[in-house]
Amino acid sequence: MKKLLKVMSISLILMLNINMTVLANEPVAIVMPENIVDTSNHIYSYDEMVVDIALLKEKYPDKIEISSVGASVDGRAIHQVIIGNKNAKNAIYMQAAIHGREWMNSWILMESLEMCLDNWNNIAPHGVTYGEIFNNCCVYLLPMVNPDGVTISQFGLAGIRNESVRNNCLFMSGAKYPGLWKANANGVDLNRQFTVGWNSRMDVTAPASENYNGTAAFTEPEAQAMKYAMSQRNFVAGVAYHSMEGAIYWDVGQQGQLRERVQALALHCHNITGYRLAEASPVKGLEYNYMNIDKGIPTVCIETGTVACPLPYSQWKRLWRENQMMMVALAGCYQ
Ligand SMILES: [Zn+2]
Repeated sequence: MKKLLKVMSISLILMLNINMTVLANEPVAIVMPENIVDTSNHIYSYDEMVVDIALLKEKYPDKIEISSVGASVDGRAIHQVIIGNKNAKNAIYMQAAIHGREWMNSWILMESLEMCLDNWNNIAPHGVTYGEIFNNCCVYLLPMVNPDGVTISQFGLAGIRNESVRNNCLFMSGAKYPGLWKANANGVDLNRQFTVGWNSRMDVTAPASENYNGTAAFTEPEAQAMKYAMSQRNFVAGVAYHSMEGAIYWDVGQQGQLRERVQALALHCHNITGYRLAEASPVKGLEYNYMNIDKGIPTVCIETGTVACPLPYSQWKRLWRENQMMMVALAGCYQ
């Protein structure tokens, strides 16, 4: 029923876009489902997320700004949602699902987004309203930066629409276990595509379901989209969601003030989620290496979950309990 309402609503939104005046004179009001982001299903697909973003925009037109920062190999738009005042003095960058099989983190960002919007006029943990917090610190959300990888993990290689791209995937290492897919549809691990230490890890030398860094940094459209997304502002903090292990990685060899700022960020995240602070990460070429070292933006990598990916649905309640306050509480730390 909820799905049906969603489809009905999205049709009305499309009508609205086509002709505002017709809808304004229509006696039939848009009926919004009470909860837009549905966490009762066992999967959260890219298509479902796209509908949810449109519905949230319709329900809260002046509280979020939506856009696309690029497109995936298989032609899926990479969506960005800015919550709060885009011109706020501070802005945070939050990203999920750079690895396909870690899609449950997209749910965290989308469910948090809806929760924050629903509570706009309510008092947040820092003693002021959610709205006031996001007025002083907006959040740039990229809830699913690797939509093709997510689609392969959820629906198999049949989910890739472009025939030649799909056929290439068939011959890659890991193709027999699409549920475990981490890379994009070119078999490049997007979290090995970043410049800082890009060529330091050469254990996988051909396109595969995971860990292949590509022929150069930023060859992949999704990595280029992220590079653009990160360049939009001088963010005060960045969070990259991954799975699994319940840990916060922050130490990539930052020095001076940046080190102090990223330590403070990691401690905020630890206090909010309860996850342990992890040791220094030996892997390079990652998004958060780039954010910290190249961009000078304090950024942590948060690893959710306690079992192997893709996380089973039974993990969701735990993930939500641990992460539901991240968005608003972290923004509250940067007022
Ligand atoms: Zn990951």
